[in-house]
Amino acid sequence: MKTDLHPLAPSSPGLTAEECGQAARARLYTYAQKLARIEAALARMEKGCYGFCLTCEGRIGLLRLEADPAEAMCETCDIGRDSVR
Ligand SMILES: [Zn+2]
Repeated sequence: MKTDLHPLAPSSPGLTAEECGQAARARLYTYAQKLARIEAALARMEKGCYGFCLTCEGRIGLLRLEADPAEAMCETCDIGRDSVR
C-alpha cells in the first residue's frame, strides 16, 4: 500500500516537516558518532591495542569496557577531559 505522505511528514502536531527533518538529522548524526566509536574500537582490537587508553596508554578498567565496549579512555583521562569542557 502506497501513501502520499512525505516520509518526514510531521507525526506530532505542531512540528513542520522541516523540523522533523532536522530532528532526524540530529539523531542520525548521533548514530554516526556512535558507529564511529564502535568502528574505532574494532580497529583497535585488530591492531591489538584494544583496552588501552588513547591518551595515557594505560589500561582501561574492565568495568568501564563492560559498560561501554567502545570506550577509548581510562577513567582518569575521561574525568580530566570532562573538567576541561
Ligand atoms: Zn588514560
